[in-house]
Amino acid sequence: MTELDLVIRAERVIAGPGEVSRCIGVRNGSIVAIEPLTSDLSAPLVLELADDEVLLPGVVDSHVHVNDPGRTSWEGFTTATKAAAAGGVTTIVDMPLNSIPPTCDVPALELKRKTAEGQAFVDVGFWGGAIPGNVPELRGLHDAGVFGFKCFLLHSGVDEFPHLGRDQLEAAMREIHKFDGLMIVHAEDTHAIEHAPTAHGETYADFLRSRPRGAENLAVAQVIELARWTGCRVHILHVSSSDVLAMLASARREGVRITAETCPHYLTFAAEEIPDGATQFKCCPPIREAANRELLWEGLRSGVIDLVVSDHSPSTPDLKCFDTGDFGVAWGGISSLQLGLPAVWTQARRRGFTLVDVARWMCHAPADQAGLRRKGRIELGYDADFCVFAPDDAFVVDVHKLHHKNAVTPYHGRPLAGVVRSTWLRGEKIDVDAAPQGRLLTRGDA
Ligand SMILES: [Zn+2]
Repeated sequence: MTELDLVIRAERVIAGPGEVSRCIGVRNGSIVAIEPLTSDLSAPLVLELADDEVLLPGVVDSHVHVNDPGRTSWEGFTTATKAAAAGGVTTIVDMPLNSIPPTCDVPALELKRKTAEGQAFVDVGFWGGAIPGNVPELRGLHDAGVFGFKCFLLHSGVDEFPHLGRDQLEAAMREIHKFDGLMIVHAEDTHAIEHAPTAHGETYADFLRSRPRGAENLAVAQVIELARWTGCRVHILHVSSSDVLAMLASARREGVRITAETCPHYLTFAAEEIPDGATQFKCCPPIREAANRELLWEGLRSGVIDLVVSDHSPSTPDLKCFDTGDFGVAWGGISSLQLGLPAVWTQARRRGFTLVDVARWMCHAPADQAGLRRKGRIELGYDADFCVFAPDDAFVVDVHKLHHKNAVTPYHGRPLAGVVRSTWLRGEKIDVDAAPQGRLLTRGDA
């Protein structure tokens, strides 16, 4: 066989359905050999993992708000993808909103790509947006390579990305079904939120009452029925209410094509512990009670929740209103792109899960869900994207040492288990001080 570029030897590799000892050969950025550790594969570059290190597939984070162009003071492609690389993430898929313009037609997608070009330290794909009036744009966006379409069922937080009413949602799903695309939904019902108490003040319990689980439950029920009627593939973003798990399970048993994700913050924090005025914890849907959190973990155990992604949604610190601590006014969004893997691992190991489980939720499943056919697995033919992870090492989060553009995260000061020692993209170690090597991904090619 022709010469390899890189050989990796590791006692612990998360490959296929389990953990194995392997010698891995990489050529032209792809995994071309997976042999027993005793194999004599050779290459100019050989990486021998240390005894305390595990080779994971690069993490795939399919829920990231880069906000570039338009709100580059909130985040940007350089800072976001450096943070991703430092956190073991080798692929992100960027959300269509919070950047200006939002990615709701082909020219906006082209502008995004032009903006990201030359800034990406990891590979970057793009979601499109479904907003009122843009049904005629959806097929063009699909053909131009977006991985699917995001919509809201209530005010999105930014005026240039309006939400869909019920009939508009149905129309968009009928259109997307025609080309077997994917609709991904922020599921909170606008009427239920209108009937809830208004968000106000610095008490977290009051904020929680303003975003009741009933709003999430109602929206998920509606999406399930529309998926049933239209046949459209759907994905529920950032599940926070554990009530929806039974609905999702029953819909799936009946053949509705639906998947679901949750996020590290819903699996880590609990409403009862959030201090007054600590708006770095504000996100929508909100972090709920500890008992709810444990049921989300059960949803991962049973497989009803397929994947865990960050929903990294930063803003500038002033928009978090730390001076007043007012949960009603503060921006809703949590910064955690660099921390997702250790945050999830810290909680997962306590509940008896292994790195095989974590890789399923954070590597395999997000890649499958987005349709990334060469990402998220250590298997022959896949991209040689790796995270060298030391699961028994630990660190304390210092927000000032993260690559995120703005030094805000609810994880600040928390001890986390698991240290990312290095991240490899298509067979090359990512160096955030060198030129960026990430590629812009297109559905079907990646
Ligand atoms: Zn989001």
